Amino acid sequence: MKETYDVCVVGGGAAGMAAAIAAAEGGKRVCIVEKNKKLGKKLYATGNGRCNVANTDMTAIHYHSADPDVSSFLHTCLGTEPNRELFAFLHSIGIYERCLDGYYYPRSMQASSVVWAFSDRIRALSIVTYCSEYVTDIRRRSDGYHIICGTELVADQVILSCGGLSYPSLGGCDGGIKLAEKLGMKCIPQRPALCAVITEEDTEVIKGVRVACSAQIAHGTVTDQQTGELQITEYGLSGIMIFNLSSEIGRRLEQGKSVTINIDFLQEIQEKDFLQRNESIQRNIYGYLNSYLPEKLAKYILDACELSPKQMLAELSDARMQEIYHRCKKFPFHVRGVKDYEHAQVTAGGISLQEINPETMECQAYPGLYVTGEMLDIDGDCGGYNLTFAILTGLRAGRACYDKN
Ligand SMILES: Cc1cc2nc3c(=O)[nH]c(=O)nc-3n(C[C@H](O)[C@H](O)[C@H](O)COP(=O)(O)OP(=O)(O)OC[C@H]3O[C@@H](n4cnc5c(N)ncnc54)[C@H](O)[C@@H]3O)c2cc1C
Repeated sequence: MKETYDVCVVGGGAAGMAAAIAAAEGGKRVCIVEKNKKLGKKLYATGNGRCNVANTDMTAIHYHSADPDVSSFLHTCLGTEPNRELFAFLHSIGIYERCLDGYYYPRSMQASSVVWAFSDRIRALSIVTYCSEYVTDIRRRSDGYHIICGTELVADQVILSCGGLSYPSLGGCDGGIKLAEKLGMKCIPQRPALCAVITEEDTEVIKGVRVACSAQIAHGTVTDQQTGELQITEYGLSGIMIFNLSSEIGRRLEQGKSVTINIDFLQEIQEKDFLQRNESIQRNIYGYLNSYLPEKLAKYILDACELSPKQMLAELSDARMQEIYHRCKKFPFHVRGVKDYEHAQVTAGGISLQEINPETMECQAYPGLYVTGEMLDIDGDCGGYNLTFAILTGLRAGRACYDKN
């Protein structure tokens, strides 16, 4: 039997739940179709289970897209005060924030409290949920949009909130992009982002090293530089700083370019201070470098400089010391690839921003059909940017559904 709604939301993640709540608060009869057994599965895993929902620094440089006009798109869809709008919504469902070093979390520091608050509001608004149902097609007919899944659903308006391909175990799939392609929307090729990178160099001997440093993509702009803790793994480089470079790295690799990441292991150490070693102290270069860097890394760099760790400091010329210094300041790692979707927190690429009206998230070619969250060709840095984007675009779409009439 056909079941009819004013609004059908496809995908019950952060964007979909926010969209459904907003539309239902405007008096619409709303349903959510979700392929997982329950709503918000990915949300539980965010921020290491703490849900980093927002950031004090909301400048557009933290978002990436193939679209050169991304900042004006963001300015419209996130508004001038994104955090104010986000927190007003979260407060309305009973979630209050706590800020730690510029990163916002729920006060409970538990992602589950956010999922619980969303679910309670969804129940209170009598939003119907169809879980374990996978939408394979959306067809526009004279009586509305037909949502093709296990149940026969028809709705006046549809909000697509299917997310991306990342973390298949939490719901990531190509379902959303396939729906968009069937509808004829322009899609930017997708790729994993917010992930570690695989290097050409063998890093097995330095795996496990964690070091404060800065990293820059060679021939990059200022935005292609990050500072923080580098984590070295058996396959390459990881850590938030690398995650934040991964979208741009993936884009360059996709264009067939070779990518090198230069690491500054001696951040804030001046050359004159490094050269001013006390030669009277009977030390070798290995011990000296280890006073700046973890020992495994010191050895690795000396090997790269073809220098014996036993070489005494007093025997090294200033020119040789300068060479070591500059090697540490700009140590290159050549990137072979980025990690796969199983290990990437978000998906870069997606539905082209050209298809969407940023005031409402409505698709230009399909009145009454909206696209939100990670399905779109926008990916944010680590730090709450992706959840802020998902929730606020969800709210935009949900509100547009009732503003229409
Ligand atoms: C491990 C991890 C940690 C993260 N931590 C953070 C963090 O701390 N802060 C932050 O800002 N971001 C974080 N992110 C990113 C953030 O979670 C996502 O960007 C955000 O959840 C996207 O929301 P969404 O609603 O667009 O998509 P999703 O949350 O992916 O929801 C999409 C939903 O649609 C369903 N679906 C897909 N296709 C169909 C279909 N055809 N039919 C029915 N249902 C369908 C999926 O099952 C899924 O439940 C993290 C991501 C991961 C994987």
